[in-house]
Amino acid sequence: MLRFLSAISAHTTNQMSIRPGQLSQKARQALKKELVSSDDGIILKIPKVELHVHIEGTLTPQLRWKLAQRHGVKPHFGNGNHEFKTLEDLERAYDDVISSAQLPLSGQSDHLTTFFQAYYSGFQFLRTKRDFSDLAMDYFSRAAAMNVRYCEPFFDPQGHTSRGVSWADMMDGFKEAQEKAANELNIQSSWIMCFLRDQSPESAMDHYKAALKYKDMIVGIGLDSNEHDRPPCLFEELFTLARRDGFKLTAHCDVGVKDTHCHIHQVAATIAGSGLDRIDHGLNAAEDAMLIDLIRHRGLAMTICPWAYLRRETYGSIAERLRVLVDAGVKVCIASDSPVYMDDSWIIHNMLLAKRMGGFTDSEMCKMVRHSVEMSWAKPAVKLAIMQDIEAIL
Ligand SMILES: [Zn+2]
Repeated sequence: MLRFLSAISAHTTNQMSIRPGQLSQKARQALKKELVSSDDGIILKIPKVELHVHIEGTLTPQLRWKLAQRHGVKPHFGNGNHEFKTLEDLERAYDDVISSAQLPLSGQSDHLTTFFQAYYSGFQFLRTKRDFSDLAMDYFSRAAAMNVRYCEPFFDPQGHTSRGVSWADMMDGFKEAQEKAANELNIQSSWIMCFLRDQSPESAMDHYKAALKYKDMIVGIGLDSNEHDRPPCLFEELFTLARRDGFKLTAHCDVGVKDTHCHIHQVAATIAGSGLDRIDHGLNAAEDAMLIDLIRHRGLAMTICPWAYLRRETYGSIAERLRVLVDAGVKVCIASDSPVYMDDSWIIHNMLLAKRMGGFTDSEMCKMVRHSVEMSWAKPAVKLAIMQDIEAIL
């Protein structure tokens, strides 16, 4: 690791707000190449469960380009100011996505797009049942190729209904892909409906009620989008109702945001009576012994997506906190978040990075995979089959 860290200093740039120890885009790509070349047999082979992936965050540049052509619109990206004449041009723009914390210091940044701009601009290409089905099938195909056997993708209905997309087009498209993936790719799935925390609790409640018609497809309720000054407790009523209705509950606690320890405490201990059932991210809990005790005591899983943090945190600080959580006995589950906007890094890349960062053994990595199976909201028979397949390859 030290050899790698000294080599990357040559790649840092002063065009953006990159702190010492934080990796530039070039350095992250070099790291990814090095990790992939390690040809890690266990990580490649082991049957996997993915508990933190945003389906809208899997819209590849190739699919965005195809959908733009399907609908006769320009394949815009980010703030839409740049015109893309070729697919290669669009692919390069994906490579340049930065986190909000990396906003440029100078004015030479027209080509750079923040994560939220990139993420939400992709919604506009999803219009018909066929589009939603294609998006989900594209993810399921990639996941199956990485030996993911079960997943719980997030989707953001408010980002679609606000553009006039019907619930039927969105959910029927997802369902079509879900059934095809189960039949043809041996990958099972259940959906987690996320609410956009930067929109009102009333909007979330309206969408919750509308989604009840699709309850058989939706296993859990989550909370995502921009967390600044939007604590999870704003959605107390919704979470309480959803628990009463039998849904599992989770919420994002993004890394390094304002009031993050307070947000993690709400998710772990107070909302909906005694806290939610899972924490998405929450890496900052590692800095607070009381939070670690609380999470361990409640047996909560944390979905950790290390590649997502590389654009705003230092390599060393992510590694240290990841190791603290695992050593403390927290049920850490490695996942990928929004892979296409995070250096095209999927669950395999996140597992390879986690292993490198924490210096984890094969046995520790397998334990994390078992946590993902155990803490998933899959049916017992699905969990049992995956566990048996894991044991069979060890
Ligand atoms: Zn996420």
